Amino acid sequence: MHFNGEQQRQSIICFLVCSLKGFTMGELEVEKHAQYILSVEKRKDDFESVVMEHLRMNGAYWGLTTLDLLGKLETVDKDEIVSWVMSCQHESGGFGGNVGHDPHILYTLSAVQVLALLDKLDVLDIDKLANYIASLQNEDGSFSGDMWGEVDTRFSYIAICCLSLLHRIDKINVEKAVNYVVSCKNLDGGFGSIPGGESHAGQIFCCVGALAITGSLHHVDKDLLGWWLCERQVKSGGLNGRPEKLPDVCYSWWVLSSLIMIDRVHWINKEKVARFILDCQDKENGGISDRPDDAVDVFHTYFGVAVSDNDFSDSCTPLEGIHCMAMVDPKPPVLFYIVMELDFHFLNIRD
Ligand SMILES: [Zn+2]
Repeated sequence: MHFNGEQQRQSIICFLVCSLKGFTMGELEVEKHAQYILSVEKRKDDFESVVMEHLRMNGAYWGLTTLDLLGKLETVDKDEIVSWVMSCQHESGGFGGNVGHDPHILYTLSAVQVLALLDKLDVLDIDKLANYIASLQNEDGSFSGDMWGEVDTRFSYIAICCLSLLHRIDKINVEKAVNYVVSCKNLDGGFGSIPGGESHAGQIFCCVGALAITGSLHHVDKDLLGWWLCERQVKSGGLNGRPEKLPDVCYSWWVLSSLIMIDRVHWINKEKVARFILDCQDKENGGISDRPDDAVDVFHTYFGVAVSDNDFSDSCTPLEGIHCMAMVDPKPPVLFYIVMELDFHFLNIRD
């Protein structure tokens, strides 16, 4: 399935129009969030930037997509960004998180996403990049994140997602890839990072996304999983990633997107989710935090804006949801960046 530029534009406009159903722009501090993102991009030498240096490729994707969603993408120098992205590519075809950093499938997807967002995929040697991703598939169908071999269903999703974007899904053994993801399904209907791993909303998003893109959703018990996902909503309206954990803006995205893909999004109280996200805004200086009164950051600003930009409407069929977000539109506000946030939490925060 491949749409042309005009169809892509239309689907984006459709997205933005729909967004007004769930929120009024008056409540979402659009201008302030855009200013916040631009100020972060300029502050390259402060503490946050130094700490996050290895994740700069992911940050670029989050920040740029947020600006795009807010209609402010023209404020950045596209040529400068493309040239920086390409300077992060290695001989293997993979991309590092910044210049001089080792390649990893996480940053490779972000690089592809940034180039797709800027409509510059033509600067890529697509086969070289696709071969790099295919080289990370293991005998059992799973994917490693890089040459060091850590295996995780996040990487299965990234590989499938990235190759779909590049129209090179035939480079991998799709049947084995699907079977591996299915082997990570749990009795509660959810999915873990490896066979037997605990169910987690972010991981579920990755597994359901991988199955959706490959046309394999019949492996999901939709009622059972839908129930588990709806139980992630806590009193404040926010959603957590697994039982007994605090709610977090970014989980709004993973849970709602997963519910859309399995056609159960009408089971959740969307007004309460919206209220929770609006309560996480810094109304004075812009930016969105993980939960009310915490410090804002680019990741959660992106997630908050992305969720706000979708109405997750009941009339959106699962197929439309997936196509809107992943398969068709190279500027999907959604499916792609999530894995990066997931990495941020899993590796750095582990909540
Ligand atoms: Zn979060």
